[in-house]
Amino acid sequence: MPPTHDRIRVIEGLDRLGPIGRTDLVVTSPRAWAAAAPLLGAGAARIETGPAPVPDAGTTRILAVGAGAVMDRAKVAAADAGLPLLTVPTLLSTDAAFSPVAALRVGDAVEYRETGLPDAVVLDRALLAAAPPAGHRWSTGDLLSVESAVRDRLLAHQVDEPLLRTARDLVDRTLAGLHDEAPDPSGTAALLIAKVEAGLRTGDAWFEEGTEHYLAYQLEQETDAVPWHGELLLALMPVCAVLQEWAPERSARIADALRRRGLDRPGARLLPAVDFRRLLAGAPGYCAAHGLTNTVLLHRPPTAARSEAAVAAWEGGW
Ligand SMILES: [Zn+2]
Repeated sequence: MPPTHDRIRVIEGLDRLGPIGRTDLVVTSPRAWAAAAPLLGAGAARIETGPAPVPDAGTTRILAVGAGAVMDRAKVAAADAGLPLLTVPTLLSTDAAFSPVAALRVGDAVEYRETGLPDAVVLDRALLAAAPPAGHRWSTGDLLSVESAVRDRLLAHQVDEPLLRTARDLVDRTLAGLHDEAPDPSGTAALLIAKVEAGLRTGDAWFEEGTEHYLAYQLEQETDAVPWHGELLLALMPVCAVLQEWAPERSARIADALRRRGLDRPGARLLPAVDFRRLLAGAPGYCAAHGLTNTVLLHRPPTAARSEAAVAAWEGGW
């Protein structure tokens, strides 16, 4: 398990939480709670699976037990009530358990709320091992977003050399991890922590979000069954490679690593190409309307030919 980091405090093992009882509010989902309850033993704690939990008077801490959406709900509840927050991820499919921002879906857009870092992240080997391994590997989408988002950022802002090095190192470590035959969730946690901490050093916590996230947020509106956040991001990587004109050898290196883990699946099974073409045509307007300015879509609007190549990358993958 990763050591305590400069800013993100990690504690290992559910037993380190101390006794859980009446003054604890557990924010969770039915599925996450089914997996966690036997290990956590929540006693008299209040268990809340609803959309906007409000702590009772007398609550002294909030425990967020679950994956991304649970984390966002719990962060907002803790920030509003001024209570300590401990996150207990059951699945490392995104960076939500570690980050100081809640991403809230409002209408067709995502609004970010800075809620502050959790007081501690509790990583428990047995709890993480109980999740389907496929769930953990979707975090690769958030980790590789650094590749495309930093390219976007270079178009819009100065990016200092140490940050560029950090971003490259993070992508390289993520790709190296995909070659690992038996990936360990603690390695995934260490990468997600490194990503969030790199974001904190830039002064805005979501430096890792760019074109890939902005297209993913629009896709969420188009698909009935919202797939994993990371699945959308990975399907959008070859699209970003076209829009941002990545060097072919760079694309090949990333595609090869993803292929090893079956993470190279084309987007067309999530949304037909004809619908993606329409979405892409509207994407610059969507980004402009929502103030999402660090994207190649606004800095170098795609030509007709590049748009068609991007649709082909969605349909056919790498
Ligand atoms: Zn994300």
